[in-house]
Amino acid sequence: MRRAVCPGSFDPIHNGHLDIIERASKLYDVVHVAVLVNRNKQGMFTIDERIGLIEEVTADFGNVVVESHQGLLVDFCRERGIPAIVKGLRAVSDFDYELQMAHMNNGLTAVETLFLPTSPTYSFLSSTLVKEVASYGGDVSHLLPEAVHSRLVERIAERKAAQ
Ligand code: ADP
Repeated sequence: MRRAVCPGSFDPIHNGHLDIIERASKLYDVVHVAVLVNRNKQGMFTIDERIGLIEEVTADFGNVVVESHQGLLVDFCRERGIPAIVKGLRAVSDFDYELQMAHMNNGLTAVETLFLPTSPTYSFLSSTLVKEVASYGGDVSHLLPEAVHSRLVERIAERKAAQ
């Protein structure tokens, strides 16, 4: 079984992430999506909610496994026998940091990092930007899977009501 992992915070998953996961799912037998836990950062969605949304929108691909992970990504890979990390590169600005991480991870356990160029349609897209625009009432429905968009709109409304 050829395995790869797509890591990230996915708070929430958007079309740019989905594009990378779908393309990886055509290249590998099994694609693991690792939702990385950052204890210092309070997200818009809980880790379980993020996992549920990713499972829902990747179900049709048929070979995607979604899990959370706390700690080093290379440990996630080692525990599951995953030799490759697949990442999307949005712009040159992503490159410096991603290259540094790729070298560090390779030095730690010889895991390889493969970069897929982001689809130009989504090259400006980040979860942070989507949440910000949506919280001011902007229409982001074309940037997210339908199920994710409706959960995001609900969550923003809940938060506003609680203020
Ligand atoms: P963000 O909060 O910036 O969306 P994540 O940590 O959730 O970032 O992203 C996880 C990974 O998904 C990134 O390291 C990158 O490989 C990929 N990714 C993020 N945004 C995009 C995008 N717009 N297009 C393609 N891949 C992306």
